[in-house]
Amino acid sequence: MLMRPNTTALFSVYRGLLLTGALTSSLVMASANALASEDGLQPSDEAAAETQSAAVLKEAIPLAPNVDLAAPQPEGIETPLAETTSDPKPAPTGASFVMFGTEVAPATSTRLAWSPEQSLDGLAASVPVLVVNGAQQGPVLCVTAAVHGDELNGIEMVRRLLYNIDPAKLNGTVVGVPIVNLDGFRRNSRYLTDRRDLNRFFPGNPRGSSASRIAYEFFNKVILNCEVLVDLHTGSFHRTNLPQLRANLKNDDVRELAEAFGDMVILHSTGSKGTLRRAATEYGIPSVTLEAGEPLRLQKKAVDRGVKGLRHLLSHMKMYGKRNSRVVREPHYYKSTWIRADQGGILFSEVKLGERVKPGELLGTITDPITNVRSEITSPYTGRVLGMALDQVLMPGFAAFRIGIQTSEEEVMKGTIPDPKLAARVSISRPKLNAAERAPAVEAVPNTAPSLDDPVAEE
Ligand SMILES: [Zn+2]
Repeated sequence: MLMRPNTTALFSVYRGLLLTGALTSSLVMASANALASEDGLQPSDEAAAETQSAAVLKEAIPLAPNVDLAAPQPEGIETPLAETTSDPKPAPTGASFVMFGTEVAPATSTRLAWSPEQSLDGLAASVPVLVVNGAQQGPVLCVTAAVHGDELNGIEMVRRLLYNIDPAKLNGTVVGVPIVNLDGFRRNSRYLTDRRDLNRFFPGNPRGSSASRIAYEFFNKVILNCEVLVDLHTGSFHRTNLPQLRANLKNDDVRELAEAFGDMVILHSTGSKGTLRRAATEYGIPSVTLEAGEPLRLQKKAVDRGVKGLRHLLSHMKMYGKRNSRVVREPHYYKSTWIRADQGGILFSEVKLGERVKPGELLGTITDPITNVRSEITSPYTGRVLGMALDQVLMPGFAAFRIGIQTSEEEVMKGTIPDPKLAARVSISRPKLNAAERAPAVEAVPNTAPSLDDPVAEE
């Protein structure tokens, strides 16, 4: 399906497809059926159900309390919906949004909860889901964070985005899940309790491993409600990422989604198998991953950058805010590679995140704290530092610098991108103790040729 300039219209098509169950995927159908039966309806009754009066539907589906996310208030103090109707603003023309069997009326916002059924009943912790349902019709945008429990920047991005949307001025629906992996978050861990990476199990399997079951439930109960998905992440394991989008640029819908963030770097990748982004895209929900900063920290600059991009997306999709006509577009990076350390030791970087580098340029030094042998890591490419290890003690083989190689799609198609086997070199030198002891630098040792799109645990 090609994306046309009128994205709103297109996203409405997606929504229509999902709602009518026209997608032939069995999972989607299963989900639609589950939803229908929860509402006490048989799938075949769907058409008939549409003709039922709103009053009957209102009885069947509980109405979510209107929690004004723009002005937080303690739980229990709920604004009755009747008050909103007396508002002088024009009457909402949008539709109700139904999630977890609860109806969210147009022009209201609320907090819902998703409970994975894979826990001990008495210990089950529900994952908060924030919903802002606009007064007017529009697409359903979902923003998920902390699928890796130690990635905190996205949690704050969701908070800032969702709590600053006035539902009366919103077209469509924004769903925010601040902490998908609540279990990992509580332990400062990337992983689930069973030490599995949740972001390798989507769309999941109801009879699979614990991780696979959680993924299945989340995908069916939350993600299949979305028409567009942004999954928020950070670098992994003492690495940091320049705020950037990961997107399958060969999918036109995904490309348009990524470009709607404005001036943000885009790195092409299909995504590892089992990532939420890849699974959702394969189900016809255009998805990107937004990477920003490092794990286990809250970084204001990275958060600011992410929120700016998300707001740009909302305005581009004609959902919220003024549309910014003048957009400076960042180049797209179709290829990237991790430069690994061939020697263990103390890493000190000589470049900053986002810096442009040339072949042979020094990226960092690694010094063995015991033998004082020092090696240098240089860039094999002309490109930009999109990710890097923080200064630390590292072991040989650790992915230290991710270089994005600026390329056009034509270059990728023609195969004229730089050869990764060229000159990825690490030179090892002896410590310069004094003139007598000074040994000539050991001849440059060819680094193991880095492979493009080298999968390092991330996303
Ligand atoms: Zn992540």
